[in-house]
Formats: sequence, C-alpha cells, structure tokens
Amino acid sequence: MGEVKHVLGISGGKDSAALAVYMRTKYPNLDIDYYTCDTGKELKETYQLINKLNSFLGKKIRLYKSIDDLNSPIKNPFDLFLDSYKGYLPSPLARWCTKKMKLDPFENEIGNTPTISYVGIRGDENREGYISKKENIQSIFPFRKNIWSVDVIKKVLSNNNIAILKEYYSNYIHTEEQEKVLQYIEQPISPKFTQTQKLNILLNSDVKLFNKVIFEYLKTTEYPIGKLDNFPLIDNEDIIVLADVFKILEDSDVGIPAYYNPVEYTVEIDGETKTGTYSRSRSGCYFCFYQQKIEWVWLLEQHPELFHKAKEYEKEGYKWMEESLDDLMKPERVRTIKKDHYIKMSRQKSRSRTGLSWQDEILEAEGQGCASCFI
Ligand code: SF4
Repeated sequence: MGEVKHVLGISGGKDSAALAVYMRTKYPNLDIDYYTCDTGKELKETYQLINKLNSFLGKKIRLYKSIDDLNSPIKNPFDLFLDSYKGYLPSPLARWCTKKMKLDPFENEIGNTPTISYVGIRGDENREGYISKKENIQSIFPFRKNIWSVDVIKKVLSNNNIAILKEYYSNYIHTEEQEKVLQYIEQPISPKFTQTQKLNILLNSDVKLFNKVIFEYLKTTEYPIGKLDNFPLIDNEDIIVLADVFKILEDSDVGIPAYYNPVEYTVEIDGETKTGTYSRSRSGCYFCFYQQKIEWVWLLEQHPELFHKAKEYEKEGYKWMEESLDDLMKPERVRTIKKDHYIKMSRQKSRSRTGLSWQDEILEAEGQGCASCFI
C-alpha cells in the first residue's frame, strides 16, 4: 500500500472539513495527507477552521504553495498572479485563479505518484468534483453512495466489459436474490437503458458487491486504487447529506465555519420593517465573483474593510461582476438587494427542503461555482 498516496484537500468550506473529520474518525489507519492551497485572500474564518482541524486531526494540514514566496517580488499569491495577468480580474469564464492557485499547486505537489484524492461532494448533490486529467490521480467521493468518479464508471460499465463484469459478479454471488442482478449486467447500455439507469440498479441492488467488483476491475488497470491490496471504502454504505455535514462538524467540536451562521438584517417593505437573515454560502476568496448580491452586502456590512479592499481591485474597467461595487454599496441599492432577498427567502420557506431556509440557500448557491474552492 506504501506506493499509493492518499490526500484530502481542505478548501475552508464545510464539506471538505467534515470529510476530514469523517475520514480521520472512520478510517484512522489510512495515512492521509491533508492539505490546503491558500490564495492569500481567504476570510479569517477559514484560517480559524484550519487551526481547529489541525487540532482535531492531530497532524498539520500541509500548505501546497502556488508561489515561491521567498524569492517572489510580490508575496501574496493572488496579487502576484493578478500582476502577471496585468490586472485582468478572474471571472467564471476566465478562471485563472483556480488553475494557478489550486489546481497547479496540487498537481505539482503530487507529481507522478499514484494518488487517491478524497473529495467531499455530498450524497444530496448533483455535481461532479474536480477530476484531474493526470492518470495517476484518482478521485473518490466517500459521502456518496457512488464513491467512484464518472470516468471509472464509464469505463467499467462500457458495453465492451459486459462479459468481464459478469464473470466478476458471478465470483461473488451466493444467493438467488443476488443472481437477479446478472440480467442487468448483461443488458447493454443504449438510449433505452442508460448508463445512469444501469449504475443505479447495480448500486441499489448491493452497493458493497458493486464496489467489490469495481475494485477487482481496477486491479487490471493503471488506476491508483488498483495498486492497493485492500481498500476499506468498498465496504462503506454511508450517504452523507447537508444536515449530516453540520452534525459531523458540531459533534467533533471543529464547529461550522463562522461565515455560514445566519446574521439578522432588517429591511422596510411596504411600510413594514421585516427581519431576514443573510450569511455567506461558500468558502474561498472574500471577493469571489461567484458570490450572490446578498453575499456582497453581507461582506459590506460584516467585513467592511474586506469589501473596500475588493473594491480597490476594480480599476481600469475591470469589475468583479456586471455591476461595480461602487454602485452596489449605495444605500438604495443595498435596500433593494435585501428586499429582493427577503422576498425570495420568504417564498422558499414554504417549499423548504431542509426546514431551515438558510440551509436551502446554501443548497441553492452550491450549484454555482467551483468545486475546488467551495467544497
Ligand atoms: S474562491 Fe473564487 S476567486 Fe478565489 S480562487 Fe476560487 S473561484 Fe477564484
């Protein structure tokens, strides 16, 4: 097992923090390298979270550096890269920030070592995490029923593998009930029987059996997991959703990153004073362009010094979004953003998924953004 490295990236968000706690507690014998990539523009709450995790994990979270800060003329990673891009601010369409400060340092640090990277995408999310293009890095998703990445599933369930998959399954099948699954193994993927349908049937019929078969299959490939003698997560049946993540963090005393805590605001609507709550729904840089308008207002009111620093980056026609921060901070505009937010949240309460509307807001916001920064 020695030649394969296990790593887990801490973004400063709740899910990666909860995953670190979960893996340390449930799989204490896995020698995981916990790491973080600092953009130099994180919120102080992120550093507080990392300190608490250091204590809980009993080992230091390593910093994968994006710059040589000793010899660099500008010591702050974001500012150095911004200078090299001549002030061109990153955006959803030009996300150089994630590449330069998160993905490149990660891949440089890993080099060519076969590596398993544990990613905290939850069981109630419908998105894939970052999957490295480097073949020696394999992502695993311990919070989901399907712990495997999409490339592995595509390969294993390919119609070319039907015979081999059937053979592997047959080796483990002992009951008539289990035998029923073979008919689905034999059925080729087609427009009428999609890969997702096939996957769900196999997962729902017996997830441990499915994982065992995938593990056997991977031994015939160059995937890092195939190099292991055993992989304890193939017996994992947990599905961790948002409420579980909060519970894991609370029970561990690491706690929920402070910026998720709802803070009250008041706004006047039709002559009445209404009280709503806002918070930040994501980790990452304080000026992240994925923020919603209400999060910018939260930054303005809860961390005014950071809002003004974010504003200073807006020059020579570059802005974080279509509206400048100078415009957004005008009192009338702030009132409108709060009003719109209050009305939206009131509507959502009636069709809440979690019973707590601020958690619904997190669920909604998670759809937008970058898995490397916000998990
Ligand atoms: S948090 Fe936002 S601004 Fe910072 S690196 Fe990630 S995507 Fe870029």
